[in-house]
Amino acid sequence: MTFMSECPSCGRSIAWSTDNPYRPFCSARCKGADLIGWAEEKNVLPVDSEDEDFPREPED
Ligand SMILES: [Zn+2]
Repeated sequence: MTFMSECPSCGRSIAWSTDNPYRPFCSARCKGADLIGWAEEKNVLPVDSEDEDFPREPED
């Protein structure tokens, strides 16, 4: 009995097998792509207005 699954990265139908070290991905490439995506997402910090710390004009 073979379970079919879909690679979360490329969507290709793959056989869910314990022989597949890359599951749930179809290949090392897809697994790597997903990990890279995660890493990039983690490293992307929301750009706040901190950079635009423009000097305020004194109110006097
Ligand atoms: Zn894939």
